[in-house]
Amino acid sequence: MVVDFVSPYAVAVAQFDEAADRLGLSQAMRTILRAPKRELSVNFPVRLDNGDVQVFTGYRVQHNINRGPAKGGIRFSPQVSLDEVRALAMWMTWKCAVVNIPFGGAKGGVICDPHQMSRGEIERLSRRYATEISILMGPNSDIPAPDMNTNPQIMAWMMDTYSMHQGYSVPAAITGKPLAIGGSEGRLEATARGVLVVTKAAMRHLGMVPEQSSVVIQGFGNVGGISARLLHELGCKVIGLSDVSGGVYNPHGIDVPTAMRFSREHGNLRGLPGVEPVSNAELLELPCDILIPAALENQITGANAARVQARVVIEAANGPTTTEADHILNENGVLVIPDILANAGGVTVSYFEWVQDLQHFFWSEAEINQRLDAIMSRSFEAVLQKSQEQETNLRMGAYLLAVSRVAEATELRGIYP
Ligand code: GLU
Repeated sequence: MVVDFVSPYAVAVAQFDEAADRLGLSQAMRTILRAPKRELSVNFPVRLDNGDVQVFTGYRVQHNINRGPAKGGIRFSPQVSLDEVRALAMWMTWKCAVVNIPFGGAKGGVICDPHQMSRGEIERLSRRYATEISILMGPNSDIPAPDMNTNPQIMAWMMDTYSMHQGYSVPAAITGKPLAIGGSEGRLEATARGVLVVTKAAMRHLGMVPEQSSVVIQGFGNVGGISARLLHELGCKVIGLSDVSGGVYNPHGIDVPTAMRFSREHGNLRGLPGVEPVSNAELLELPCDILIPAALENQITGANAARVQARVVIEAANGPTTTEADHILNENGVLVIPDILANAGGVTVSYFEWVQDLQHFFWSEAEINQRLDAIMSRSFEAVLQKSQEQETNLRMGAYLLAVSRVAEATELRGIYP
């Protein structure tokens, strides 16, 4: 099957344009908010273990910084492109605005396949990329974090690299670090915990109960894997899971802790006992109550959206639904909890990490989780209320809230000079 390329940035701009229309934004404001503020492309050499030198390409894009310093993760993947990083940066702007934390939006990425690289190669790539983007980085200017295929160790190397250039440690220049060097309690689980909060809120809204709700999750990494565990602990029946090796299905429920152990020991879910193997495409179309895409962009498209059987789609990934698919899901009465709300738990605890680093004063895990819960619940309610008021869906409700906050900040600051 040939799948047409869908530009994530085109999807992001289409979502913004619809919100701008509804808000009646001026032409000038639209032009300002559509365009990324800064885009840095870097090509840099890394010495491989065999002595060869390979030149890698990376990006850092800041979409908007009117509400605060630029914030957003860094991904390592062969699929990284400037178009994708632009879209992800714009989504970060709206994400920070929808949960009302004082950051603008940014994103970074390096075109590479970390699964084919040694630990030493990944360290050298991470340090050199941090050096290249250090002209943008800083606790008051641009604060990176983990994203797809990056982790606390990589954040530690990047923080160390940035700090070496300054001559002193600057933990607040990056979030998602290990606890021992200024990381925050609860950061690793934060995105999934946010997913849990909005899933519970969506269930309450629809009168569903966890014990009678079946869940399918695409992606078994930091977001999908931990979401599966938390929803399993809540009492939901997790019936489908997937990772890069494909999907697994058991209509009677999968024991998530067993699946996690299996995946840790075997590197993926392939061959998990007691389940039926399914393709990633089939997984999205399984009969279930809640579908959680927690992997890549453009997974629910015009080609498969009509076959989605879930009542609720929780977008734990960034941009998993194309514009065309979004219309189909809406028409079919599927409740979609949009990415900029559903996966905002990660950046919310990144905000807590940054604040703790700046104050050199650290909070307990209970405090972190309670504050995260409060922000996610409040944001869900605000988005729901906005969508009801404006007679629209939750994605548009979230966009109306977010875009109006960013537009207000932009208007108040005015145009320089
Ligand atoms: N990469 C995560 C996201 O897409 C977290 C970003 C952050 O913590 O800055 O929201």
